Amino acid sequence: MQTQVATIGKPLHLADKPSPLTGPRDSFGRAMNYLRISLTDRCNFRCLYCMPAVGMKFQPRDELLTDEELIRLVGIFAKSGFTKFRLTGGEPTVRPHLVDIVRGIKSFPGVQELSMTTNALILGRIAADLKVAGLDRVNVSIDTLDPVRFKMMTRGGRLDLVWQGIEAADAAGMKPIKLNTVVLKNQNDLDVIKMAELTLAHDWQVRFLEMMPMEGVGPVYDESLVTSEETRARLEAHFGPLKELESNPSDPSRNWRIPGAPGTIGFISPISAPFCETCNRVRLTADGKLRLCLLWADEVDFRDMMRNGATDDDLLAQLRGGVWRKPWGHRIAEGERNTVRGMSQIGG
Ligand code: SAM
Ligand code: SF4
Repeated sequence: MQTQVATIGKPLHLADKPSPLTGPRDSFGRAMNYLRISLTDRCNFRCLYCMPAVGMKFQPRDELLTDEELIRLVGIFAKSGFTKFRLTGGEPTVRPHLVDIVRGIKSFPGVQELSMTTNALILGRIAADLKVAGLDRVNVSIDTLDPVRFKMMTRGGRLDLVWQGIEAADAAGMKPIKLNTVVLKNQNDLDVIKMAELTLAHDWQVRFLEMMPMEGVGPVYDESLVTSEETRARLEAHFGPLKELESNPSDPSRNWRIPGAPGTIGFISPISAPFCETCNRVRLTADGKLRLCLLWADEVDFRDMMRNGATDDDLLAQLRGGVWRKPWGHRIAEGERNTVRGMSQIGG
């Protein structure tokens, strides 16, 4: 097992800090209680900032965790103290048996919160069933309210269906609804005003994300990064000063409000203001690897272990050992690039 721990400019002080979170700790003392689960590397969109236009290679189905393997593993994570789980991908709604998977995951008493990040293209048809099965909340990715630009940025997506998906989630009581907008220069950077206006009419959270240079989209990043500061300045030039709200320390979103608005505006700034110190999450890829950090290639295998007869105790030990070596920091702002997996292959 690899034991070297990656650190960049990390003060070794967190191990002394008590943490209110349950879950296994890493070597810096950060407690992990949040697992993002990629259900598939496939998707019905090809967003500019996530996938190249052509040449995506998807993993053969027999390399992905089966539903049974996935649910068993979630039980191990819940047993170790993880309490928050999020389904993602690729596009999680293209995974067969999604409603059964949700029900299976929610059957563990330790699973306190189950949410999903989705492009919502087919959410309108399934939101009510997902809610009944135990899905608590959704984050919907929507980069613009302009249907033509939407189609261009997703390379073919239909805004009207996505909007139906958001309304269906809202009607099903998946609160609070959060919308994710990746802001790209000369694409949707002017559309942030209309996105933010949604918070005047709805109690939703509209979150603006800085793009990350994942595998396959480096050139788009080089041309298109818009920082959170730039987006906030654009919003304040239009709406006047935003009011800063108290944010949950383990939520990477820093939150603001247009005075008087029922909804809120969030900024997620992995490039300009990395949030490693409060990171409480790891990821499970669709092929059964524990991914310790989006931006480091280090992964821990579960799939082959399970297929070779590992017991629950073996898996628990693998989980604790893996979390222990979670790295710290990244050097994106200095030009370093992740060249191992794309966002859709990790689970954003
Ligand atoms: N398909 C689902 C969706 O789009 O919501 C879930 C998977 S997607 C990879 C998860 C989140 O990652 C989305 O909110 C998407 O906007 C974001 N994302 C994808 N590529 C990104 C990138 N290069 N930088 C920052 N965020 C990215
Ligand atoms: Fe698909 Fe989500 Fe990536 Fe867009 S961001 S291509 S919807 S996985």
